[in-house]
Amino acid sequence: MQALLESILDEVRPLLGQGKVADYIPALATVDPHQLGVAVIGTDGSLSQAGDADVPFSIQSISKVFSLVQAITHQGEAIWDRLGHEPSGQAFNSLVQLEFEQGRPRNPFINAGALVIADINESRYAAPVLSMRDMVRKLTDNPHIIADMVVADSEYQHRSRNAAAAYLMQSFGNFHNDVDTVLKSYFHHCALAASCVDLARAFSFLANQGRCLHSGNVILSPRQTQQVNAIMATSGLYDEAGNFAYRVGLPGKSGVGGGIVAIVPGRYSLCVWSPALNPSGNSLVGMQVLEKLTERLGWSVFAPV
Ligand code: GLU
Repeated sequence: MQALLESILDEVRPLLGQGKVADYIPALATVDPHQLGVAVIGTDGSLSQAGDADVPFSIQSISKVFSLVQAITHQGEAIWDRLGHEPSGQAFNSLVQLEFEQGRPRNPFINAGALVIADINESRYAAPVLSMRDMVRKLTDNPHIIADMVVADSEYQHRSRNAAAAYLMQSFGNFHNDVDTVLKSYFHHCALAASCVDLARAFSFLANQGRCLHSGNVILSPRQTQQVNAIMATSGLYDEAGNFAYRVGLPGKSGVGGGIVAIVPGRYSLCVWSPALNPSGNSLVGMQVLEKLTERLGWSVFAPV
């Protein structure tokens, strides 16, 4: 696996000049686009990594999976009264469907849906920022995980679209806490910094029927694990979930920091990172790495079991 990861990174390195780092959050625009890393953790505990797999990056929308898991653990199926689990087919920050669908976001992995989930968690936790950080520290087995406050502040300064989504949902009665307070929690979650190794480890429970590999803790039931993987497979890559299913064939979640996590149920959790994005906001080189890896190893949730 180690040799395979290294050879795939060598193959895709010439593409590193392509794509564009996210610049709508000015603090992210300064990230060096030539970085590239990948980490794969097997449910047998094996770890393989290549390139910049230990370099922390802004996890951005990957945090939406952690927030969803938190909400599921304390609210269960009741969360679906507030939002759906249908792909949106729209950009991550789109507002158009919210107006047509009475302030009910399509899924938890677009910004509007993640804001509703953050609103649900805000009602539940006395200190949502700390409870999320601590959850990520436990799942990554890395007590040093922190949010990059320069990124969080930069997002807050440029919050107009997210604020608009939250206020629109509030106007439909689908937002219960103070908008500014929830936005600050949400930006803080997005600004958490973690490496490919951290994230591959953190998501091992989704490859392991809901049980965290290193701690043995049950994070979700096997059924809930399948459901989260299903939402990742259908909505984890913004308006490119279909292309990701076609090219990679695994449940995944991307972020505009250039990270993509993916799950091979029962076998592996992996994370690839390269900051330059394609026009859908997904890591351009990261997609290539995942496509080559899954093709070579025959990994796909659509393959015969
Ligand atoms: N914090 C980002 C935003 O709300 C998340 C973007 C993303 O990774 O999709 O704009």
